[in-house]
Amino acid sequence: MRAVLKFGGSSVATIELMKKVAEVIIKRKKLYDELIIVVSAMGKTTNQLISMAKEISLYPNKREMDLLISTGEVVSISLLSLILQEMGENSIALTGTQAGILTKGTHTKNKISDIHTEKIESELALGKIVIVAGFQGFNEQGDITTLGRGGSDTSAVALAAKLNSICEIYTDVDGIYGIDPRLYKDAKKLKQIDYEEMKEMAFLGAKVMEPRSIDIAQNHGVIVYVAKTLSDEEGTYIMNYKDGLEDKKITGIAVSDKVIMVSMKRIPYSAKLTAELFRDLAKNEVNVDVINQNPSIGGNMNIAFTAHADDLDAVNEVLDQFKVKYPVVNILRIDDVVKVSLIGSAMRTQSGIAAEAFEVLADNDLEFKLVTTSEISISYTFDRSKKDKVIEVLAKHFNV
Ligand code: ADP
Ligand code: ASP
Ligand code: MG
Repeated sequence: MRAVLKFGGSSVATIELMKKVAEVIIKRKKLYDELIIVVSAMGKTTNQLISMAKEISLYPNKREMDLLISTGEVVSISLLSLILQEMGENSIALTGTQAGILTKGTHTKNKISDIHTEKIESELALGKIVIVAGFQGFNEQGDITTLGRGGSDTSAVALAAKLNSICEIYTDVDGIYGIDPRLYKDAKKLKQIDYEEMKEMAFLGAKVMEPRSIDIAQNHGVIVYVAKTLSDEEGTYIMNYKDGLEDKKITGIAVSDKVIMVSMKRIPYSAKLTAELFRDLAKNEVNVDVINQNPSIGGNMNIAFTAHADDLDAVNEVLDQFKVKYPVVNILRIDDVVKVSLIGSAMRTQSGIAAEAFEVLADNDLEFKLVTTSEISISYTFDRSKKDKVIEVLAKHFNV
């Protein structure tokens, strides 16, 4: 049997920690015949690389950015492989390109289109532990690409899908909790969580897993096990899991600080203008989240929308152009907001969950700015000053 094991940035932050990771790998080798290891950049390396580029340019060229930020993972695969070899293991480090990870799309936000696994397979056949750089690949032009922040999860799950294996994600938390245990100390760990709910939690801000990785896992039936790197605690399985779903109203709560809210006032009412705004945002690869448009009063309307803070530059670029084109429009970007989302498959079949949440918030005088729902989630945008209280009240009420 083979397994893909992924170690996140905090697990490989220092050489000392990498040596511990190497011990974990050697232990897992007793259980699995073939191991593919995916690693992230050491600690906060990716952030540091991005900051350096920002010292040079406000909107750095994305192709060069990809090249730059891909180096973090190249450092960690090389060091980890050297450590394993020093410990007497037979290992080989491969960049995304060498591992055949073909991607397409926009630089810094590429998607994996295929993985040519011949090289990995031949190295595995030679009995080697294959260490692959997470977060990166190459495109049809032969350029180095990256998969978006947190993308090593996606690399790991995609490799597991292609190589027909289980995927174990080792991180700094011992499993998936109903809510980030850093935010709510009484958070409860889940033994297993359904793909659909995990995907929604991840998309809505539970950064423990990169959302697209769960999409791939679900589409290819990859079972993902999330556990803590240096711990024997039982982790969480992400898999098809429908049992007992009707019992629990809310499976989890996701909190995202990485939200920007844009409020645009006095826009001359015109469907064309709204279309233009969102088309420009889409062209700039901005993933717009909540949209709220007020009806026209006296020929003017207001629009508010939220987007992910990682898209700040792209949003600013569009707003700058918009201000030039439509100087009468009053544009306000509000950064101190937080999005809190309730997630649960039970919402599909049980009525009254939204009503219950509205009531709890009202009883505690917690006013929200925007609200939006999907089939299995409700998301509220609040002033950041309300964050702690909102979390406490909702987590306690829904017992996550
Ligand atoms: P890695 O560097 O290993 O990829 P991340 O920092 O990306 O790790 O993800 C792990 C973090 O995710 C944890 O430290 C935890 O604070 C956070 N997290 C957010 N939501 C959850 C959740 N529902 N359950 C567990 N951890 C969560
Ligand atoms: N190093 C990349 C990041 O920090 C990818 C990852 O850690 O998953 O986003
Ligand atoms: Mg991560």
